[in-house]
Amino acid sequence: MCGIIGYIGNRKVIPILLSGLKRLEYRGYDSAGVGYLVNKKLNVFKAAGKISELENTIPDFEEETFIGIGHTRWSTHGAPTTLNAHPHLNGSGNIALIHNGIIENYLTLKVKLKDLGYQFKSETDTEVIVHLISFFYEKEKSLLKAVRLALHEIEGTYGICVVSSLESNKIVAARKGSPLIIGVGENEHFVASDAPAIMEHTNNVIFLEDGDIVEVFNDHFNITSLANQTITREIEKLDLDISSIEKGGFPHFMLKEIFEQPESIQNSMRGRVLLSAGNVKLGGLENFIDDLVGAKRLILTACGTSWHAALVGEYMLEQYAEIPVEVEYASEFRYRNPILGKSDIVIAISQSGETADTLAAVKEAKRRNASVLGVCNVVGSSIARESQAGVYIHAGPEIGVASTKAFTSQLAVLSLLTVLIGRRKNLAFSYGEKICQELLNLPKKISQILYQKDQVEAIAEKFYEARNFLYLGRGYNFPVALEGALKLKEISYIHAEGYPAAEMKHGPIALVDENMPIVFIAIKDSTYDKILSNIEEVKARKGKVIAIASEDDKTIESIVDHVIKVPNTLEMLSPILTIIPLQLLAYYIAIKKGLNVDQPRNLAKSVTVE
Ligand code: GLU
Repeated sequence: MCGIIGYIGNRKVIPILLSGLKRLEYRGYDSAGVGYLVNKKLNVFKAAGKISELENTIPDFEEETFIGIGHTRWSTHGAPTTLNAHPHLNGSGNIALIHNGIIENYLTLKVKLKDLGYQFKSETDTEVIVHLISFFYEKEKSLLKAVRLALHEIEGTYGICVVSSLESNKIVAARKGSPLIIGVGENEHFVASDAPAIMEHTNNVIFLEDGDIVEVFNDHFNITSLANQTITREIEKLDLDISSIEKGGFPHFMLKEIFEQPESIQNSMRGRVLLSAGNVKLGGLENFIDDLVGAKRLILTACGTSWHAALVGEYMLEQYAEIPVEVEYASEFRYRNPILGKSDIVIAISQSGETADTLAAVKEAKRRNASVLGVCNVVGSSIARESQAGVYIHAGPEIGVASTKAFTSQLAVLSLLTVLIGRRKNLAFSYGEKICQELLNLPKKISQILYQKDQVEAIAEKFYEARNFLYLGRGYNFPVALEGALKLKEISYIHAEGYPAAEMKHGPIALVDENMPIVFIAIKDSTYDKILSNIEEVKARKGKVIAIASEDDKTIESIVDHVIKVPNTLEMLSPILTIIPLQLLAYYIAIKKGLNVDQPRNLAKSVTVE
């Protein structure tokens, strides 16, 4: 979601802030701003729109500035205007603050502060924090104390960074519910919401926890709790290199990430597939495997694309691991009364590991004494740390807002989990071996699909002006229909619905006419004959059919309008292949419409607000 960067050290701060903000651009934002100290005076510049707009407003890059903060905003309260952009200043202009999250009791606080004479310039919830800090500073004359006291008044979520000309040798930062890390350099420190913002400078980071407040100086930092107890946190070394967050010759991150899938999926499986044993090894679950085998029920909870991966996981785990599975939107799970028994295990799936709803679901499950496992991509993320155990999908940084490679890696990891549990139950060695072998064959098969990109692009050319799309699939490929439709919606803004193909007759068929493109996932699996009948029903109503079909299907061409072929694989693994052409289709349609696929409107990469 929004991005935070802070720097204190001996280097000029503005270029560091701007390059950090550019690295965070992918998280999705609508405005940006920086605040820095020059000769103990605070300067703040803000702009609606792109970082380049902000860059144009900063008058002199040559200024001798060594301490500052920068922010990209994803508006929750107030329009994305320059005035509402962060940093926000207190009345005297000597304290500047940036914030990620939502202050839930801001209205009450705002009324109180206004009664005390504080004047508000923006419509944001954030602004109350800086006035509160200012209020407490009057009494305490200490920035750290003032921040701590202000945070005691606040309900909601925050990652904040504060600088002040009153104490110009430090940044004060704090987190609750929004991610924040400290980067440790030589005689310099960084604060960031996400590692890519600081990766070109340092790999040594500290993950702050909820309730941490940190005072950061050039050469040291002190972490304390909200209750003012000293806290020690380990410095961790991140194993990431800068090329993994650059485009590497592709026009967009999304296309790069689609094309990375042969490799990213291999990375998800590396060292985990034990072919000769027909089994798998998941180090993170070693102490948990008995619980998983004994579990009466698994609850997979997630949002968006990860929720679609969970739906595929449900099919796999029920079929081969023989455990009842429920898939829950994290946002719903936490607000009802989820009945969790002792032998239920909750598995939270999130690419970023920071998804606010999923994190809240994890916390709710823990409150109800359930065991919680995490399936995340970002190492050290909040969900990974909140979970008792888990599996990283190791897809590498995903920058494009529309998730692609994380989805296929989530599916790969859920297949591994299925084999792991299944082999302890009734899944035979021979079938375990077959799944393992097919998993290892997937990277090559994904490459074969990617070779057909021109063909997919030609189909996109025909349909990019369509107003609506339907995506239909059955069984394992029903969630793929949902995911295909979601990709198209996200980046092309075309209305698209995913449905189980059999449900079409119960409503969506009313939409079908000669202008309606309908994507069928129609591979030769156990539902093939039924899908063919559904295609006939659509053709009878003049719908335009694009079919994702098996490579050895010689007849489908005669009944549909366009075909994209995918190699054969096991039915349970087929979603890992069938989604690839749908990712490409969404991408090319958005490109033909001239849209920014990496930063689609209104969306954010890491959804850190509820
Ligand atoms: N709630 C704050 C605002 O609307 C911060 C949003 C964000 O996380 O970017 O300004």
